[in-house]
Amino acid sequence: MNNFRVSYVDLPSQYELIREEVLDVIDDVCRRGSYILRDEVDRFESLVAERMQVRHVIGLNSGADALLFSLRCLGIGKGDEVITVAHTFIATLSAIAKCGAQPVLVDIGEDFLMDVHKIEECISSRTRAIMPVHLNGEVCQMDVICKFAAEHDLLVIEDAAQAFGAYYGGRAAGSFGDAGCFSLHPMKIFSVYGDGGFVATDRDDLDERLRIERDHGQNRQRQVLKYGFSSRLDNLQAAVGLVKLRHFDTMVERRRQLARQYYAALKQIDFIELPPCPRDDMDSYNIFSSYVIRTPFQKPLQAYLAERGVETFVFWDPPLHKCSGLNLSSFDLPITERTAGQVLALPIHHALSDEDQGYVIESILSFSDKRTV
Ligand SMILES: *Cc1c(COP(=O)(O)O)cnc(C)c1O
Repeated sequence: MNNFRVSYVDLPSQYELIREEVLDVIDDVCRRGSYILRDEVDRFESLVAERMQVRHVIGLNSGADALLFSLRCLGIGKGDEVITVAHTFIATLSAIAKCGAQPVLVDIGEDFLMDVHKIEECISSRTRAIMPVHLNGEVCQMDVICKFAAEHDLLVIEDAAQAFGAYYGGRAAGSFGDAGCFSLHPMKIFSVYGDGGFVATDRDDLDERLRIERDHGQNRQRQVLKYGFSSRLDNLQAAVGLVKLRHFDTMVERRRQLARQYYAALKQIDFIELPPCPRDDMDSYNIFSSYVIRTPFQKPLQAYLAERGVETFVFWDPPLHKCSGLNLSSFDLPITERTAGQVLALPIHHALSDEDQGYVIESILSFSDKRTV
């Protein structure tokens, strides 16, 4: 527990909203002793697939494994290059490195997402795949990326860990590429009570390989076909996920309402750039996994808000290519570097009250007043 008056996410309050339902399903699962690859995992996979309009969903034990297994099962490995961004959570790059391939980093645009105009410069004879990251709940320009990938015969693996429920051109995030990778980590909107993740795919061959990969290299008949991993979505977590799925649209709507309120209250401030106000159409439907503002006063504003009891986060500074342990320092990414020193994520989650958001807004406005005197 922390001492913030308004914390960045408030998991206990989120739990309170669905406590009875969750306790019921946990009790039910435990009474049946159904823990590994049982009914709830099957139901979770089919409901999520139906919602996303994809053929298959495969439950795994993390978003990181969703990324790593997708790469491995699509045959990416040593000597291959995968184009992605440095403005992301480390798991994106680790997956590429851990399957033996080399991450090739492309810069981002002002919307924090992969700059599609710069992908071409990154292509080499070793390029096998593009891994766009749908950061903060907003989807990359997937029409452009998929067209480019098709022209160059590249695979597309979407890091959709922050974008379950987001849409682009009427299609679900994670349903564009060969694989869409999701995390159910407690910090995500669609989350469980521990680690979890899944892959969405239309490819029957990938579905089959992932199911073998996650279960010790065995098929459903328990025949051992290869060396595999132990990385299944727990049945208990799938049961929690099913409860969350019932409330998902309400949770997202509350976030979008909070985003509208932030927009209305802060758009006047000249040293803050806000994410676009939520749009209602499915052309570009943002779920606001994070509400990230841009300001030249990143560090002073964060410190000021902390003093007032408001918890914020910087995602991420330093940018990953500047972390010497990753051996990526040869990449020159000016927008990524500038962005790292400007971003600040404000509290946003479905259990955040108008009153607490009002306090955050009031605090930012009072910082603003101090700057103009
Ligand atoms: C959370 C996250 C992941 C990793 O998910 P885990 O379930 O924690 O392994 C990967 N990529 C992005 C962009 C994320 O935000």
